[in-house]
Amino acid sequence: MKQVKMQDLSATIHSCQKCELGSTRTHAVVGSGSLDAEVMFIGEAPGFHEDQKGIPFVGRAGNILSSLLDHIGMKREDIYIANILKCRPPKNRNPLKDEVEKCTSYLDAQIEIIQPSILVPLGNFSYRYLFSTYGLPINKISQDHGKIFTKNTILGILMVMPMYHPAVATYNPNKIDVLMKDFEILKQNIGKLATNQIG
Ligand code: URA
Repeated sequence: MKQVKMQDLSATIHSCQKCELGSTRTHAVVGSGSLDAEVMFIGEAPGFHEDQKGIPFVGRAGNILSSLLDHIGMKREDIYIANILKCRPPKNRNPLKDEVEKCTSYLDAQIEIIQPSILVPLGNFSYRYLFSTYGLPINKISQDHGKIFTKNTILGILMVMPMYHPAVATYNPNKIDVLMKDFEILKQNIGKLATNQIG
């Protein structure tokens, strides 16, 4: 059932022309990983390599993400990864407000299909979108990264755990230690909802 729903959504996204990015993309990038994932990572937007391949996080930031997962004994197949925008903004510029508004119904639909226990916004755009969607107080990602926020939704309790975008480690090597610590905290929280260990 999840497969069928994601295939239908994927077909809609691949033919989407709701904004200008529909005419500049090579491929729309829907997402990848397990539809039964407990943890769903949400990045910003496809970059050059993602646009070429149609797969999220396959460039430099993707390599960092893979090694962070490896650090906590997880694989890309254990999680699901998607982005706020499904198409690459030219020259990797920041997403525009209008693009985010038009595109995020796709992300909302993906979250509804997958029903993860933990959402991990990677970077500021994703942090801001998810915190505003779930009515959580928006501060700075520098304050909130590595913390667990819980929200009662119609789909049950959801944990939201912001992290820095893995790309920060490419221009600020100190951040890799911060990311590694945050991934360790994430690992400790996997399975907690199922066993009712958070309140
Ligand atoms: N950065 C993102 O936020 N998403 C990708 O898919 C690749 C790089």
